[in-house]
Amino acid sequence: MKCYICATGGRDADAVTTCIACGMGVCMDHVRREEVELAEGGYPFPPRKLSKTLPRMLCPRASKRIGAGRWVPQRLERGR
Ligand SMILES: [Zn+2]
Ligand SMILES: [Zn+2]
Repeated sequence: MKCYICATGGRDADAVTTCIACGMGVCMDHVRREEVELAEGGYPFPPRKLSKTLPRMLCPRASKRIGAGRWVPQRLERGR
């Protein structure tokens, strides 16, 4: 896979990982590592935030959104 951001700029760089938020490939220059808060919980209890964070690989755009506190990790699965 190639880095999406580099590709849009006319460069050709191999991606080292993919953004966990949007799935685009990002090269070493463009990857951002963010500590993302974990949420735990499930039926019948509402999700609660853990004090732990986990490093996640993101593209610069997703990294910005997380920095602004607008992005929520995808933990929507529910028990029955
Ligand atoms: Zn790149
Ligand atoms: Zn992304």
